[in-house]
Amino acid sequence: PLTGKTAVITGSNSGIGLGIAREMAKAGANVVLNSFTDRDEDHALAAEIAENFGVEAKYVAADMSKADDCRRLVVAAGGCDILINNAGIQHVAPIEEFPTAKWDAIIAINLSSAFHTTAAAVTGMRERGWGRVINIASAHGLTASPYKSAYIAAKHGIVGLSKTVALETAEDPITCNAICPGYVLTPLVEEQIPDTMKEYGMDRETVVRDVLLKRQPSKEFATVEQLGGTAVFLASDAAAQITGTTISVDGGWTAL
Ligand code: NAD
Repeated sequence: PLTGKTAVITGSNSGIGLGIAREMAKAGANVVLNSFTDRDEDHALAAEIAENFGVEAKYVAADMSKADDCRRLVVAAGGCDILINNAGIQHVAPIEEFPTAKWDAIIAINLSSAFHTTAAAVTGMRERGWGRVINIASAHGLTASPYKSAYIAAKHGIVGLSKTVALETAEDPITCNAICPGYVLTPLVEEQIPDTMKEYGMDRETVVRDVLLKRQPSKEFATVEQLGGTAVFLASDAAAQITGTTISVDGGWTAL
């Protein structure tokens, strides 16, 4: 159903972004992969998706912590019908010890990049008379946990940005929404396990059970395929009147 549409997914050489790229390609969309690196294996991911799903796929290196790179990504995509703002990083520390450089990087990559890419993409969407902006927020865009001040501020920010863009595009056939995943076992989550072990003085198994999945009533991680399927749904005609809202994929976290 997405044949002929181009989906640009920021931060998509790994984890949820790559999962979304695969589901978009499976649904027939051409895909533009992105991260800040420019390695053979990054370009190989695009070649593999093109081959597997019979779509056009390319990889564009661009650093989502830099405003110019965000805007350049949209131009280099050569048309952006579906924009998925997914690039994100995490840092876990109490606020008194939270490094300023980490705060700045998280706000830039997890929040400001979506402002820049959306600003660059909306004009083309209006001209072509169709568009979808899908922001990957988090359960932490709706609730908080200790030691993640920058991430939670950025994710609450992106929920607000999604609502604003939805209102500004409401009379065009363009929608803007945020997906709020609970925990998904990607490198981003793997990497925060050691710091969380330190903060709480727990072993790995206890962190997974009593910290990560404690808030997730299903006691299961969500999967990148499920996030991809949710993004494909938001891009479908069935979702044309869904705009300015959030969809939680969190095993019941935000119902608690
Ligand atoms: P990940 O680390 O596997 O993926 C993050 C992606 O962002 C990677 O492709 C990485 O290369 C890219 N990236 C990082 N810095 C970048 C930069 N400066 N420029 C361009 N790309 C950059 O992590 P993930 O779990 O797949 O996270 C993807 C998104 O999902 C993030 O926004 C994250 O906050 C969100 N999320 C993840 C979870 C989870 O449990 N994994 C839960 C809720 C929300």
